[in-house]
Amino acid sequence: METIKNLSTKLASGETSAVALAQDSLAKIESTKNLNAYISVLNERALAKAAESDKRRAEGKSLGALDGIPVAVKDNMCIEGTRTTAASKILKNFVAPYTATAIEKLEAAGAVIVGKTNMDEFAMGSSNETSYFGKVINPLDETRVPGGSSGGSAVAVASGTVACALGSDTGGSIRQPAACTGVVGLKPTYGRVSRYGLLAYASSLDQIGPFGSTVADCATLLNAICGIDPHDNTTSTREPEDFTAKLNAGVKGKVIGVPKEYFGEGLDAECKAAIESMLKKLEAEGATLKEVSLPHISHAVSSYYIIATAEASSNLSRYDGVRYGYRSKEARKLFDLYAKSRSEGFGKEVQRRILLGSYVLSAGFYDAYYVQAQKVRRLITDDFNKAFESCDVIASPTMPGLPLKCGMNESDPMAVYLSDIYTVSLNLSGLPGVSVPCGKAGGLPVGLQWIGKPFQETDLLSIAAATEALNK
Ligand code: GLN
Repeated sequence: METIKNLSTKLASGETSAVALAQDSLAKIESTKNLNAYISVLNERALAKAAESDKRRAEGKSLGALDGIPVAVKDNMCIEGTRTTAASKILKNFVAPYTATAIEKLEAAGAVIVGKTNMDEFAMGSSNETSYFGKVINPLDETRVPGGSSGGSAVAVASGTVACALGSDTGGSIRQPAACTGVVGLKPTYGRVSRYGLLAYASSLDQIGPFGSTVADCATLLNAICGIDPHDNTTSTREPEDFTAKLNAGVKGKVIGVPKEYFGEGLDAECKAAIESMLKKLEAEGATLKEVSLPHISHAVSSYYIIATAEASSNLSRYDGVRYGYRSKEARKLFDLYAKSRSEGFGKEVQRRILLGSYVLSAGFYDAYYVQAQKVRRLITDDFNKAFESCDVIASPTMPGLPLKCGMNESDPMAVYLSDIYTVSLNLSGLPGVSVPCGKAGGLPVGLQWIGKPFQETDLLSIAAATEALNK
């Protein structure tokens, strides 16, 4: 795997050019086609942008660390004039009329977008098997999934086609695939990065974030994409900060919260051992371990799947076969047009979510499910607030075990939902989290998830960098 840091040093010294890097990345995408990590490859556009970058550099006007660096983005983020599918048949020919803010910012920093990556349909899933364009292969073990839903972006980095990528995370979709493929994935605090131009799944949970082979690269990407956006009223008004500032700060004096509920039943023994051994190393470096408790966490998955599907059922109502996207040719009446376009255009998992979401919002069940789930969400947030009174960061596994075996989405969807156990609570509470590789289990990388206080990404990345340095 390459790093932004290496590539930008080579660009600065003239050892390579942006066009050469783009060509190299495009060639690697072609030669790793069997992994199915990309839905669209933006050959011409990428080479044109790379040529602009070289021209800027030649004129002494380089834009900094990301200028000329090839980047991949998940195919649920719009780029004007290019196809944006969210891996769904319903949008398979949809050409976006505008560009997502996060992508606009990346390009304003000189990054070269080489392609749009494969994903679970509408970001619903943890396996990447629900894509209309076929599943993504985990290059580390083809019998296991690469995680989802941003599996394409994770594999794009893990297979070396790009040094870094963007994904979106509603309940773990950046952190899980990062863990399954041995890369770093960061979900920023809700409101840190604009979601304008991101195809909405569950608006109160969705967040865009970076993948990289190093923590430093994720910090560099976050520097470029964060900030207030008049197009997204949930973006924070905080002043931008430099997320690379504390990468070498070390862990001396840091208090690491270790939730007792996270390291008990349900966690694979080898994964647990890998994480505990890392925590010991951090302790030896001067950090203090402190047991904390998150008493309501066992309800996180159920409340997440109620809130996420409720919001999804509302967000996805816009795909009606009338305004844009797939339209059934069979329909003769208006109602049939809606019903047929939606049942032919959406895949099985998406339909399951829409049904579940409509059910929990329906007049008879709203109080019993949706309102209860919102109350649990509050309790979980209170648990985190309380835990953070006595620690700086919280340690957790990213996944309960090894990456899931292929095919489980069909055979046992409940087991797939349950694999989100450690990740969804951060989205419910809006907290930042980063998954970093930490030892191995069954020969595959294990992900350690660091959970931070709201808007404390700089500290979060600092402990993640210390973990990375000790992961030898
Ligand atoms: N696996 C979770 C879901 O299916 C999370 C997906 C995501 O973060 N986009 O809802």
